[in-house]
Amino acid sequence: MAAIQLTFPDGNVKEYDAGVKPIDVANGISKSLAKKSVSAKLDGHYVGMNDEIPASGQFELITTDDAESLDILRHSASHLMAQALKRIPKFANMHFGVGPYIENGFYYDTDNGAGNQVSVDDFPEIEAMMHKIVKENLPILSHEISREEALKTFANDPYKVELINDLPEGEKITVAVQGDHVELDKGGLVPSTGWIKHFKLISVAGAYWRGDSDNHMMQRIYGTAFWKAADLEADLQRRAEAKERDHRNIGRDLDLFFTSQEVGSGLPVWLPNGATIRRQVERYIVDKELNNDYLHVYTPVLSNLNLYKTSGHWDHYREDMFPPMDMGDGEYLELRPMNCPSHIMVYKHKPRSYRDLPMRVAELGMMHRYEKSGALTGLSRVREMTLNDGHTFVEPEKLEDEFKSILKMMMEVYEDFNITDYRFRLSYRDPKNTEKYFDDDEMWEKSQAQLKRAMDDLGVDYFEAEGEAAFYGPKLDVQTKTALGGEETLSTIQLDFLLPERFNLTYVGEDGKDNHRPVMLHRGIVGTMERFTAYLIEMYKGAFPTWLAPLQVEIIPVNLGAHGDYARKIQKQLQDAGLRAQVETKDAKMGYLIREAQTKKVPYTLVLGDEEMGQDNVTVRRYGQKATETISMVDFMKEIQADVARYSRV
Ligand code: ATP
Ligand code: ZN
Repeated sequence: MAAIQLTFPDGNVKEYDAGVKPIDVANGISKSLAKKSVSAKLDGHYVGMNDEIPASGQFELITTDDAESLDILRHSASHLMAQALKRIPKFANMHFGVGPYIENGFYYDTDNGAGNQVSVDDFPEIEAMMHKIVKENLPILSHEISREEALKTFANDPYKVELINDLPEGEKITVAVQGDHVELDKGGLVPSTGWIKHFKLISVAGAYWRGDSDNHMMQRIYGTAFWKAADLEADLQRRAEAKERDHRNIGRDLDLFFTSQEVGSGLPVWLPNGATIRRQVERYIVDKELNNDYLHVYTPVLSNLNLYKTSGHWDHYREDMFPPMDMGDGEYLELRPMNCPSHIMVYKHKPRSYRDLPMRVAELGMMHRYEKSGALTGLSRVREMTLNDGHTFVEPEKLEDEFKSILKMMMEVYEDFNITDYRFRLSYRDPKNTEKYFDDDEMWEKSQAQLKRAMDDLGVDYFEAEGEAAFYGPKLDVQTKTALGGEETLSTIQLDFLLPERFNLTYVGEDGKDNHRPVMLHRGIVGTMERFTAYLIEMYKGAFPTWLAPLQVEIIPVNLGAHGDYARKIQKQLQDAGLRAQVETKDAKMGYLIREAQTKKVPYTLVLGDEEMGQDNVTVRRYGQKATETISMVDFMKEIQADVARYSRV
């Protein structure tokens, strides 16, 4: 038999007999290497440890030390789960879609027929069966099969048949076999089921076959796996904490907002409690901006499509936009995806002089973006959103000053909200994908360098990211962590030399000439109300500081008949001072009512009985504290007003 030559990552070349397997190669190097080798790659394609290496080539072993090995483990765990499901009588006829590894684990799309769905209650039984198959330590082997054989093997699996039929003519088809279980698979699997020891099924959710809402809804079962028990434990702990923080869960428990298919995907409904938080944020930021010489306006959410043709949105941002509305009279209207063109119209409304600049136009501007349905998440990624938007029109030589003053205002806002966990990202265009951006190399070089210089001057830390710019220019993004561990942009400042060109913006300079071109800065400080509120919910875990809390004071009369009037008098005093207070009228035990106020995370609970009533006193319980304190109403008013005062004026 002809020999094959394997080239190792260090450049060494060794010769082996044909038919050699990665496990033989590993054993030939060292026993300890063989023990931790999970899979191998030949010229970038996976070869299982116990499969024959088909040819000469660039060869590498993947060990449990390599990060990639976790993907292999999780990919294998999804197969293990499928095999276990098939062994459980009520899932024996289940159909399977795809079962890949993902960032934190794996999933498998399944279909067990409408009346017979999988639920989390089934997880212990499925996991037990998985452990049983792990004990059997079945070897996992891959081999190529013909299209006919593949169609025969998966004849009872309509989704797999569709996948096979979609493979281009001549494409190699491989399967992975473990015991009596066969998977349509490209490889990247552990040597045997015994390797998959530490795993857990996490959740089950609906998922359209191939992500297409015209297709059948399948059940996606999620799980995760690790090499070490301690790593799995830590991950499960992290997931539990994330769940507790998840703004969608808190939003439901505290009646803040909801989304529903009935209203439409990504179109949240703000309930009174959530609306209060939002209104507070809106009042705060508008006051702050007025205080910083911003001119607040209202402009339409719908505009003539031509506006977005001039701006370039239509050419560069169309896939994120809702389709235009044909009005039937030659006019096309578009739901705006950004507010910039509207604010440009404000600037253009009158001739401007250098004396008007910097001109800062601001708005709580509602916009619509057609985000992919799979990306929609609670309030943090939606299709209708209101941006705390602002556009500064500035003389080119004043650009850096304006940039710095926006950054300063942003830091003040962060301090007020107690936001400390964030990092700055300089977002550049993707030099390999320039058609997504305005085509002007010189402009990009210049503005990216200018942004970097401004940040270096300020001496703040940042990282750089290509491909994250807006289509019209580079930006500074503030990246924050979500409860689910992802990173999202909260605030942004963007440099723009282009829209002023496209819209032919001018001002009269000191020289009296009217052909000077301003530069634009786009910025969102608290970002969209939706994402910012999601962020606040997760950061505060629903326990909002008093100035933001939907309900600030819960008043509980000891006896509604005897103390109800006093309770309502206190409520009125608080309301007259602009505070949000409510009298509890439910007929329940005092202890229960106090606990309920704590569950709702109300900052102050007042208990009012005979003693309080006689002295114009209140007995206060502050959120998170066990102790109560009886103080005069005058003192309580002082305390709560001091608590909220810092934010009511800026
Ligand atoms: P992303 O990269 O998050 O999609 P973007 O770069 O498209 O955002 P910008 O055009 O800079 O976003 O929008 C300004 C701000 O609007 C962002 O900083 C972010 O806070 C917010 N935002 C953007 N898209 C959404 C959305 N779909 N839902 C909620 N908020 C959003
Ligand atoms: Zn803008």
